[in-house]
Amino acid sequence: MKRFLLIVALLVPLLLLAQEVKLERVEPPNWWTGFKNPEVQLMVYGKNIATTTVSVDYPGFVIKKIHKTDNPNYLFLDMTISPGTRPGLAVIQFKSKDKVAGKYLYELNERKKGSAPRKSFNASDVIYLLMPDRFSNGDTTNDNCLGMLENADRSNPDGRHGGDLQGITNHLDYLKDLGVTALWLNPFQENNQEKYSYHGYSITNYYLTDPRIGTNEEFAKLCTAIHKKGMKVIMDQILNHCGSNHWWMKDLPSPDWINQWPEFTRSNYRAGTVSDPYVSTADSNLYVRGWFDKTMPDLNQRNPYLKQYLIQNSIWWIEYAGLDGIRHDTHPYPFKDVMSEWGQRILEEYPGFNIVGECWMNYPSNVAYWQKDALNKDHYNSWLPSVFDFPLYDALTRAFNEPEGWNTGILRLYEILSQDMVYPDPGNLVVFADNHDVNRCLDTQNDDVRKLKMALAFVLTTRGIPQIYYGSEILMTTGADKGHGSIRKDFPGGWPSDTQNKFTAAGRTPAEQEMFDYVKNLLTWRQSSDVVHTGKLLHFIPENGIYVYFRYNAKDAVMVVLNNNEETRHLDTKRFREVLDRYHSGTDVINGGEIGDLSLLAVPSKSALIIDLRK
Ligand code: CA
Repeated sequence: MKRFLLIVALLVPLLLLAQEVKLERVEPPNWWTGFKNPEVQLMVYGKNIATTTVSVDYPGFVIKKIHKTDNPNYLFLDMTISPGTRPGLAVIQFKSKDKVAGKYLYELNERKKGSAPRKSFNASDVIYLLMPDRFSNGDTTNDNCLGMLENADRSNPDGRHGGDLQGITNHLDYLKDLGVTALWLNPFQENNQEKYSYHGYSITNYYLTDPRIGTNEEFAKLCTAIHKKGMKVIMDQILNHCGSNHWWMKDLPSPDWINQWPEFTRSNYRAGTVSDPYVSTADSNLYVRGWFDKTMPDLNQRNPYLKQYLIQNSIWWIEYAGLDGIRHDTHPYPFKDVMSEWGQRILEEYPGFNIVGECWMNYPSNVAYWQKDALNKDHYNSWLPSVFDFPLYDALTRAFNEPEGWNTGILRLYEILSQDMVYPDPGNLVVFADNHDVNRCLDTQNDDVRKLKMALAFVLTTRGIPQIYYGSEILMTTGADKGHGSIRKDFPGGWPSDTQNKFTAAGRTPAEQEMFDYVKNLLTWRQSSDVVHTGKLLHFIPENGIYVYFRYNAKDAVMVVLNNNEETRHLDTKRFREVLDRYHSGTDVINGGEIGDLSLLAVPSKSALIIDLRK
């Protein structure tokens, strides 16, 4: 008996200790009334939170079901928001043995009027991609933040440089003046990693702006300011992986929250495995379940709670900040069935919303598999409206650099475009000459500014949604080491200590100013050129290093000539009669001036000629 009492005496404090309850977080942190889907699933985290009794006393906002996992520190609450539920603060109460162990004030907001259908981004836009850490440091007080593992160090190409949302806000006039109409920001959510945290692709908190970049409120304000200038915002999101320092990595809701391997196992990065009819299980498994990097644990989107978490997180950001679009990273890597549901859920809440996925493959057939409504043999529908045109990008890196041949040189552009029959909506592809993951266009064009100009002229006039990379307009190049840090150099003038400021004409060299004017002129013209946004494309097989194509509709037409030769060519236009017969003159968009005679066109070496045709 004594022995028994002793055991009880020892166990009681241990049991009490084990029952210690602490509420730490509820996500999504708030939600909205008025969504089509009346349900939201809350993830509740805190020590022994699953041992509590949960209640909510709020008219219309009720707990439908409570889910537990093997980890007592998590609860998943299925909440229903009945039609007519008023916005306000609902108290979610957690009771342990009749004592209140925690309370969370859950904010139900009213959706902004007209927030459901979105104009989103489309071919009338020109997207400007910038990396928040590398564009401009508008607030030096947030360069280093308490609790954040990596401090700013501009001398390290792979370190944080201090750029932030304030820096972007400070240069909206610059961007507006340049003529871009949509901004795609590389990820800005918290990346509390020891190293390489600047690029943003190792998220450690999906609901928080990295304090070194700014705050959620600042991001929402920036979006409002961008909208006031008539521009759009595209947010970079990542559902495939999180950062290894994500808070849940220390205490996973369940072992299957991430794809686990006995030892670190890298993905084979072969996105083609997803649609390959002959794929082996070993290859497809390694592609989807392998980790992108040691510091990027591979999420298992098929875990039903994680699936809800990720879908709701995307919707949360759209509603919270009034986003105009999403760019989704490493799109084919997550489980494709879940990504399809993700896209469908977003489009149901926001009809017309555009999402562009990074499906990095060089064959149009591989990429087309991922565009919404593709006629895939396995009947897979991605619900992803847009994809990046990587095959055309790949062609662009070669077209102006190789000798002309039967299947080399400028013909590469023609050949890729001639395969557009595989895409359900080629006009909604995002076209680009470079981005944050590849050498800058000027670099792939062997530092030849003429070829950079040709590449941009092509991107801005072919079918699709053009995207340009920050700094192309001022001839930014990749650093000598060709590393990622060098591809993402700081925009000169974005830091208070910079000696040169390329944001202003006074800070640019004559060559940089000439490039800036070239880009600005084309972007300004493009803004009002409906035929380039929505007109049909008609092209002619390149001959003698010259590629000719037209964008046309019932009203207007634009002629583009790309001369890939090292000398000026005088182009006899008889071959293009089927279009040109209806036109007698035109305006030279790039150089200005009238072209009274369309029968013979002089096109300087390695250049683009764009003509607004007139009847
Ligand atoms: Ca800063």
